[in-house]
Amino acid sequence: MKSSTSPALPDPRKLRRRLLAWYEARARDLPWRTSGDPWAVLLSEILLQQTTVAAATPYYERLLARWPDAAALAAAPLDELLAEWAGLGYYRRARLLHRTANVVAERGGELPRAHAELLALPGIGPYTAAAVASIAHGEAVAAVDGNVERVVARLIGLRDDVRRQPGKRRLAQAAQALLAPRRPGDWNQAVMELGATLCKPRSPDCPACPLRVDCVAHARGDVEAYPVLPARTPPTPVTLVAAVIVRRGRVLLRLRENAPNAGFLELPGATLPEEQLTPDGAPLDGPAALVAALHDAHALKLEVREALPLHKHAITRWRLRVHPFRATLSSGAARAPLRWWSASDSSPPLTTASRRILASAQPELLQLS
Ligand code: SF4
Repeated sequence: MKSSTSPALPDPRKLRRRLLAWYEARARDLPWRTSGDPWAVLLSEILLQQTTVAAATPYYERLLARWPDAAALAAAPLDELLAEWAGLGYYRRARLLHRTANVVAERGGELPRAHAELLALPGIGPYTAAAVASIAHGEAVAAVDGNVERVVARLIGLRDDVRRQPGKRRLAQAAQALLAPRRPGDWNQAVMELGATLCKPRSPDCPACPLRVDCVAHARGDVEAYPVLPARTPPTPVTLVAAVIVRRGRVLLRLRENAPNAGFLELPGATLPEEQLTPDGAPLDGPAALVAALHDAHALKLEVREALPLHKHAITRWRLRVHPFRATLSSGAARAPLRWWSASDSSPPLTTASRRILASAQPELLQLS
């Protein structure tokens, strides 16, 4: 699409009335909406980044019950938070939340109130700072996440790329101009709710939308053309082999030292270079590669017993294909970074891929005895 000049805004007063009335009548009953507590709002916003409401809700309830304020979380070791976070992914969020809790605890335990001060905390970006400042403290600042970006771009028919200038600036200006100044927290949540429930990326439910009379994209009949986004970089495929080695009710794991998931435990194995893959990305000889990798890295001699089902897993920009094999040790000892692990060793946590492979290959190992 061609770059446009700044589009005209619909009449904000009527639009605000319509959207807020819809929000009051139709908003989903979500646990963080009953609390205006800044810590609870912050926790919910961090959990909801790259995570669905259904997946985030049990984590929110568990984490808030265990660490009801920043001081409580700051007093806990990071490993405990990572163990509670297990399965949710994007662990960087947990590390940053822990750092934020420590900074806040050192300053007396109260989260700052103003958007600008919240922005200075580790890992809190403009969206999260605006959500906390508006919802918990009524500051009139627009919170622009992916849902809001989509709704506003469609409402004003913005033909510019919303991730680059000038589109980014135009979108932010429009979001701020539309904001209901007396109810900024409700307004921000209402726009997000509209994006999450009706104004979806594909097939938005425009007939049910309270803003359809205001919406430029709807009038143009090309709603799915907005927001204009940069072309996506395709994910990088990575093929791995991994060993499931069990002895006396314990499984052999390795402490991961590199990103992603540094500090987590994983099944030992290796990433296969391209020359060890078939043209369609399968290992040429997975068992031999696994035996060689564990011998080279840990001086262990393996006997591979059977191939286990392929496990596919996406993490940030990687698309992992893990080929696990059940194996036994014929010689060598587990030395750091390897260790024998059972479910009663609560931390550090397992990577999501390793936990899922174990859940399918040896589910009893993941049950606490
Ligand atoms: S009318 Fe359709 S495209 Fe426009 S805001 Fe509503 S749901 Fe989104």
